[in-house]
Amino acid sequence: MTTSSEPVVIVGGGQSGLSAARAALSAGLRPVVLEAGVEPVGSWPGYYESLTLFSPARYSSLPGMTFDGGDPDRYPIRDEVVAYLRRYSASIDAEIRTGARVTAVHPRPGGGYLVHTDSGDDIAAAGVVAASGSFSNPYLPALPGRDTYEGEVRHVAHYRRPEPYTGKRVLVVGAGNSAVQVAYELAPHARVTLATRAPIQFMPQRIRGRDLHHWLRVTGADLLPRAVLTRLVRHAAVLDTGVYRDAITSGRLARREMLTAFTADGVIWADGTHEAVDAVIFATGYRPNLDYLAPLGALDAGMPRHVAGVSTTHRGLVYLGLEFQRSFSSNTLRGVGRDAAHVVAALAGGVSGRSRRRPQPIKRLLVRR
Ligand SMILES: Cc1cc2nc3c(=O)[nH]c(=O)nc-3n(C[C@H](O)[C@H](O)[C@H](O)COP(=O)(O)OP(=O)(O)OC[C@H]3O[C@@H](n4cnc5c(N)ncnc54)[C@H](O)[C@@H]3O)c2cc1C
Repeated sequence: MTTSSEPVVIVGGGQSGLSAARAALSAGLRPVVLEAGVEPVGSWPGYYESLTLFSPARYSSLPGMTFDGGDPDRYPIRDEVVAYLRRYSASIDAEIRTGARVTAVHPRPGGGYLVHTDSGDDIAAAGVVAASGSFSNPYLPALPGRDTYEGEVRHVAHYRRPEPYTGKRVLVVGAGNSAVQVAYELAPHARVTLATRAPIQFMPQRIRGRDLHHWLRVTGADLLPRAVLTRLVRHAAVLDTGVYRDAITSGRLARREMLTAFTADGVIWADGTHEAVDAVIFATGYRPNLDYLAPLGALDAGMPRHVAGVSTTHRGLVYLGLEFQRSFSSNTLRGVGRDAAHVVAALAGGVSGRSRRRPQPIKRLLVRR
């Protein structure tokens, strides 16, 4: 049975979880954020050291707090984001428990959920916001022979800096921002090849003297749903001021068509040739980290079943921070606040993604008993 004291449990204390907490407070709910790590700043401290935001500071704020601290047109470095999230979490008047990893969520017969943590705490919740990101669930494609390869294999999630690769022959697999940025950074230190399925597509960082994010905002492209956007833009593209394209066209950074198999000491390329390599870095993306929802039956092969972040399987369960949850900007600092308002409104109104006809408002459950 739900009681008036029951909170909404938010799983994950990154930008998504913190935005959800802020939106929940505004909606009159009582959020409790459970964060597995030591502080509520999300995965940013684990990103590679040289990372700078792809959006200028002026387009990188969460709701209610400007990303200040200097020129609004600068591209903040990783540690500035960590410091910003630290300030942001401190500004939210919600209970945030760190060192609290959620291991399972179970439904209760009378409604609501029981949220289990690895410290043994079981928390009764009127609703759950799954905002646990994907960084801890890196995706590696199954390629023939990968298990027989004796060199170093790592996902870009575990890459920090170029120096350990000095003098090595390194293959970076992937065609996205991380793949190109890491390969470019490694090139002066190592013999690097980028392996991609298709030629890399680039998107200019600046157009007519303004950053791309200015145009995404004024044209409304940032808010387009995936189905519409993919009709306009065929391929995901790498943001570039021109340096990456130049490095590839000048041959300073080699790019080859995707490898077909691994051998013990290297790879076989699409044209059948063999090349020995010392290390392979997969920059091949991530999948949502939602194992704790498996007992609930909310997932389909590990992926959430939802419409715009609202679960289609369970009333009172919502998601935040999914790639393309509602639009291109969903999984970004600038876009997550809009989605937070949307899913928290659905939560407060008791709306499920499957049926919006018989609401059981969480707000009412919270105040009734
Ligand atoms: C390399 C890289 C660069 C990026 N660059 C940009 C950029 O320039 N601009 C931009 O706007 N976006 C960028 N993004 C995208 C996005 O903004 C970030 O990935 C951001 O960290 C996502 O925030 P989040 O809160 O959804 O997830 P996360 O930051 O991953 O936070 C999730 C939190 O949940 C916690 N958690 C996980 N499982 C559990 C559990 N079971 N119980 C309790 N807690 C749990 C984790 O410890 C973590 O703190 C980038 C992403 C990557 C990977």
